[in-house]
Amino acid sequence: MNDSKDPFYRYKRDIISVKHSVIFTEIENLTTIAKQLNRTDELLLKYLQVMLATQGNLSKRTLRGTFTVNQLEKLVKDFIKKYVLCGTCQNPETTINYKKGQLTCASCGAKTPVQIDGKIIKG
Ligand SMILES: [Zn+2]
Repeated sequence: MNDSKDPFYRYKRDIISVKHSVIFTEIENLTTIAKQLNRTDELLLKYLQVMLATQGNLSKRTLRGTFTVNQLEKLVKDFIKKYVLCGTCQNPETTINYKKGQLTCASCGAKTPVQIDGKIIKG
């Protein structure tokens, strides 16, 4: 997936970039960020829309409403804590099992239960 030996490469990701229209916020790099987190853009967008209590459109990468980069960045950080980082060693190289609602760490092997919100993760 990447060729860096820098142990911190895993934490590097792009900052959200948005474009506002009258009633929508387009997250221009939604797919890129989701890939960098090794999660689907669908899950990330769903998380944002549930947390912001709004509707999203995956093909257009939009959320209904105008949200700032700061608002969205804060949620992406929460998303990483909840759905990416190993609960034991904080390693982000985890895989997610949607049905069991748990993360499995590629580094230490620990299984971390994820807070399943039925609206975000379907079993
Ligand atoms: Zn771990």
